[in-house]
Amino acid sequence: MESYPKMIIGGEQCNAVSGAVIDVCNPATGEWIATVPAGSSRDIDKAVKAAEQAGHNWRYLGFGERATLLRRLGNVILDHAEEIALIDAKDSGNPLVEMRKDVLKAIKHLEYMTGLALEVKGETIPATTPNNIHMTLREPFGVVGRIMPFNHPAMFTIQHLVSPLVTGNTVILKPSEETPLSALYIVKLAQDILPAGVLNIVTGAEEPGSALVQHPRVRRLAFTGGPETGKKIMQGAAGSGVLKQTTLELGGKNPMIIFPDVDAGTAANAVLAGMNFKRCLGQSCGSTSRVFVHKSQRDAIIDKVIAGVQAIKPGDPSHEDTEMGCLTSKRQFDKTSHYVDVAKQEGARLLYGGEPYADEPFNKGYFFKPTVFDQVTTEMTIAQEEVFGPVLSLIEWDDYDEMIQSVNSVAYGLTASIWTNDVNTVLKTVPLVEAGFVWVNGVERRYHGVPFGGTKDSGIGREHCLDELLSYTQLKSVNILTS
Ligand code: NAD
Repeated sequence: MESYPKMIIGGEQCNAVSGAVIDVCNPATGEWIATVPAGSSRDIDKAVKAAEQAGHNWRYLGFGERATLLRRLGNVILDHAEEIALIDAKDSGNPLVEMRKDVLKAIKHLEYMTGLALEVKGETIPATTPNNIHMTLREPFGVVGRIMPFNHPAMFTIQHLVSPLVTGNTVILKPSEETPLSALYIVKLAQDILPAGVLNIVTGAEEPGSALVQHPRVRRLAFTGGPETGKKIMQGAAGSGVLKQTTLELGGKNPMIIFPDVDAGTAANAVLAGMNFKRCLGQSCGSTSRVFVHKSQRDAIIDKVIAGVQAIKPGDPSHEDTEMGCLTSKRQFDKTSHYVDVAKQEGARLLYGGEPYADEPFNKGYFFKPTVFDQVTTEMTIAQEEVFGPVLSLIEWDDYDEMIQSVNSVAYGLTASIWTNDVNTVLKTVPLVEAGFVWVNGVERRYHGVPFGGTKDSGIGREHCLDELLSYTQLKSVNILTS
């Protein structure tokens, strides 16, 4: 890993025009690991010019050639997968084993999306008169801005570049200021494969993100992050003076509903897996952080969940055998601590955790114990707001209608997980749950071709499917009149 990686604009490695920088530290130790440029609107201007210049040739290269180049990039990334996973483990605090899986998942996504590219096609439409041919073409937008969150840095970098590029757009990536290192590494690898200016990266915090949103020549934006930032992005895009197609992949306060017919051991395993304690300390948008446990099973499930969290051991994220790392930043650590305090004040009962690890070496980093509250009620802050940390709320239910009301009481609507062996309960409950992605007897996994995205404040748009590819194109209708 380079200690002073540079941004890449128009194929050139560069510092920020202002010379400003951001230090990046290892959240597990507090040690400095790198210094990256802190870009601004001037760097975004440069990047837009470079992306526009590269756009013409890239657009007319054709789907086949673009897909071939991206698959070649996928292979090069695979050759460097170990290095990338290690960068993410050090930068994000997530375990190395999980970061390896992230890279592999993202490469599968790249292979799937590039394979699907030829499905980005128009249609022919029945002639309205005998000498008439109607058809549609799909064309790229031009320069696409992709603003990324701090979690799963390499996975999102790889996944987020594929669809806009294979459909003929050029891209400016703006990774999170908290975890920019693997994105810089991957974009550098891409420079040996993609033409200069096709894929650019500007690092920094809110300023370059906001400049990208407001740039009048960026007509397509895709944002993954928190809902409050998402709303600012909608406002910023509207204030740019031009209309922008914008997709938003935002947060979740996702419910898991456990019906009484499910075996307590199976349910407890689902609760632990759905909360992603080990994988990323709950820092995943799809985590099921509100678990609705039926009264009849409450004690059996709670005992098993507590036994499960007690067994999880923290460790240095970059070590081979570590099963749980630490939170990614002080911001995440403070946020988690705040929600724990509020939950206690509002009357939730702390069953486990609720504090950082006090022992060496964990007290040097942002290590936080997996935390379980019960006696959580619908109106509590912890049942309404996304913690995005290792805090699980158990909500007891008895009355079906009241439980559904509570499930839908939040502003979010990203994922939901329903556990029952009764097909009637499945068919009755799935339509009632306000969520864009529902598992029945499953958690956490996403599948190629299955649309992922949120309703309500969890977002606009769908990814991981043909819709994602199509969303990076605009339709042109052509009417050919023959004599
Ligand atoms: P965040 O909203 O704080 O930041 C995300 C990105 O936006 C960062 O790159 C940041 O620098 C940038 N940014 C901040 N202010 C901006 C502005 N005014 N204009 C433009 N860009 C700006 O989010 P985060 O804390 O990095 O990520 C966590 C959030 O992301 C959680 O809510 C999580 O649920 C969500 N998330 C959603 C998905 C999904 O697929 N739905 C996936 C991952 C994360």
